[in-house]
Amino acid sequence: MTAYQFTEAFAKEMDAQDSLATFRNEFHIPVIHGKESIYLTGNSLGLLPKTARAYVEQEFLDWQNFGVEGHTEAKNPWLYYHHTLSKQAAAIVGAQEKEVVVMNNLTANLHLMMVSFYRPNATRYKMIIEGAAFPSDQYAVDSQAKFHGLDPKEAIIELKPREGEHILRSEDILATIEANKDSLALVMLGGVNYYTGQVYEMQKITEAAHAAGAFCGFDLAHGAGNYPVKLHDWDVDFAVWCSYKYLNSGPGGTSGVFVHERHGNNPEIPRFAGWWGHNEKERFLMKREFMPTEGAQGWQLSNAQIFPMAIHKASLDIFERAGFGNLRAKSITLTGYLEFVLQSLTESSNLDFQIITPADPEQRGCQLSVLVKANGKALYDYLKAQSIIVDWREPNVIRMAPVPLYNRYLDIYELGKAIQAFGN
Ligand SMILES: *Cc1c(COP(=O)(O)O)cnc(C)c1O
Repeated sequence: MTAYQFTEAFAKEMDAQDSLATFRNEFHIPVIHGKESIYLTGNSLGLLPKTARAYVEQEFLDWQNFGVEGHTEAKNPWLYYHHTLSKQAAAIVGAQEKEVVVMNNLTANLHLMMVSFYRPNATRYKMIIEGAAFPSDQYAVDSQAKFHGLDPKEAIIELKPREGEHILRSEDILATIEANKDSLALVMLGGVNYYTGQVYEMQKITEAAHAAGAFCGFDLAHGAGNYPVKLHDWDVDFAVWCSYKYLNSGPGGTSGVFVHERHGNNPEIPRFAGWWGHNEKERFLMKREFMPTEGAQGWQLSNAQIFPMAIHKASLDIFERAGFGNLRAKSITLTGYLEFVLQSLTESSNLDFQIITPADPEQRGCQLSVLVKANGKALYDYLKAQSIIVDWREPNVIRMAPVPLYNRYLDIYELGKAIQAFGN
């Protein structure tokens, strides 16, 4: 690979050689302060695919023309709409089609998964999570513990980085699992930490959890569409993710769920049930006894949310065309360029900042989290005034996520120039 250079010519040359460059034209890039923005917050809300409108319009048309008959007469019959997403969603998370279902929203699905996979008893009742987990996940796990009559302070073990460090060491995660092996019920981590961008060693963690007699699940909100995972091969018990971050499926968009086939084929596993999870062939016989349909679909509650799913379908079609492997390859190079530019700035300006995301590409996706030691908020505001959208996290972190589908090397160069101007 060519050595990186912090020059406009280099960035433009990289864009010219990028075989995925045209995908940028398939997205609406927000215009902010009258200028096409440099959008580096696909980790928070991915951009709108231009095709999404037509996918949604199709459903409006079918609703307009068929009313209730759309369940069977629509171009994509609503009764089975969720089926159209499973194969592509499974490809994103390294799963078999049957192991994946798209439904509900992320936190709701996390609860549904914990109903099945966090079933504390007198001896096994502990759950290991990240110390600085996303707030929704913290509230979800605490409320699950309380729901079972447990004190979260005793039931929930939080992993913390060592003094003076920002990311978790694998050895410490594994040691915590080992130390609690007699009382551990579940390990539930964000596969990619939302704050630091750290990717955990999911396969090793899953093995350790299983060896300890516990289940293991991941919240892939920041993993899905960003970092390649192999949920089936890694033997993960369950996972959940949202579709509106790297998967570009719109604010409040639908969510994905993975349940390993080992559990999906076990009708005995306790779950909260609804009619859409019932054996599909008998759903409309309106029988009294719940018989879950096989696989992850057996966790569905309600009939499919056609409109958010139509947007998701538009996005998944783009992912399939681009190829997740290609996207990941570009992502590594693009994020490497961001790292290079930031590092050259720390050497050449008065700015005092530190990248807290791991330097090893295997331990990160596209996001870099930058701890700014002084004037962080002022830098963030300055960038925004220049139509550069990054993300500010209290107390002192700026997250930047160059997304391979629509970000360019030139975006990184211009970000670098703006940071440089601020520092001088
Ligand atoms: C974005 C995110 C959420 C948001 O949850 P919703 O239910 O979609 O509102 C939850 N957990 C993590 C780890 C996230 O990154």
